[in-house]
Amino acid sequence: MNDVDLTDRHASLEALAERAGRELEDAPALDILRWAAETFGPRFCVTSSMEDAVVAHLASRALPGVDVVFLDTGYHFPETIGTRDAVAAVMDVNVITLTPRRSVAEQDAEHGPRLHDRDPDLCCALRKVRPLEEGLVAYDAWATGLRRDESPTRARTPVVGWDARRRKVKVSPIARWTQADVDRYVEEHGVLTNPLLTEGYASIGCAPCTRQVEDGEDARAGRWSGRGKTECGLHG
Ligand code: SF4
Repeated sequence: MNDVDLTDRHASLEALAERAGRELEDAPALDILRWAAETFGPRFCVTSSMEDAVVAHLASRALPGVDVVFLDTGYHFPETIGTRDAVAAVMDVNVITLTPRRSVAEQDAEHGPRLHDRDPDLCCALRKVRPLEEGLVAYDAWATGLRRDESPTRARTPVVGWDARRRKVKVSPIARWTQADVDRYVEEHGVLTNPLLTEGYASIGCAPCTRQVEDGEDARAGRWSGRGKTECGLHG
C-alpha cells in the first residue's frame, strides 16, 4: 500500500472509530466486541495485563480463538505469568507474548541497574510502549480493559476511539463498568483472575512499580507510587 492509500485507510478507520464510539456508547460490552469482531475479524486483538481475564473472556465469546496480546516486560510477578499460562490453557483464545528487544540483564548493562527507579518513563518506553507498537502492526483494532472509574486520567475513555499514536481503532468495551460490574462478571462466568487481587493489589503491573493499596485509594494509586507517574504510556 502506498503512502496515499495508507493515509486514506487511516482516515476511514478514524471516521469509523468516531462513529462507532458515538453509536455504541450505551451498548453492552459483548455487543461492542461483536461489532469489533465483525468489523475487523483477525485484524482485531485484545491486550491483557493478566490482572484478570474479563475482556479476554468477553472477546472469546464474540470471536472464538481471538488473539490475546500480553507484554512480558521481564519484571512481572510470578502470579501474573501463571495467570497468563492458565488463560492460554483453559480459554478459547490465542495468547501472544510480546517481549522487549533487550532482556532485563541487557538493559541493566546498557542503562545501569534499576532503570525503573531512575527513569521509569524510559523503562516503560523500552519494555512496554515499543514492543506493543511493534506487536500491533498486524492489527487494525485493539481492545483494552480500561475503565473510567479507575482513575481521573481514564474518566473520559471512549468505548471505541481512535488511537492516533498507533493509528489503530481502540476498543474499551468495559469503559463504563465499575469494579462491582467486573466482580459480578468474574463470579457469574468463573473468569480467571490474578491471585494478587486477593492480597491487596488493585491494579497489577511490573513488580518493582506496584504496591498494595490502602482503603479509600483509587485502584491505580499503587502504580509507580511516589514517582509522580500514573500511566506507562500505552494509553497516552
Ligand atoms: Fe519498567 Fe516499571 Fe514500566 Fe515495568 S512498570 S516497564 S519495571 S518502569
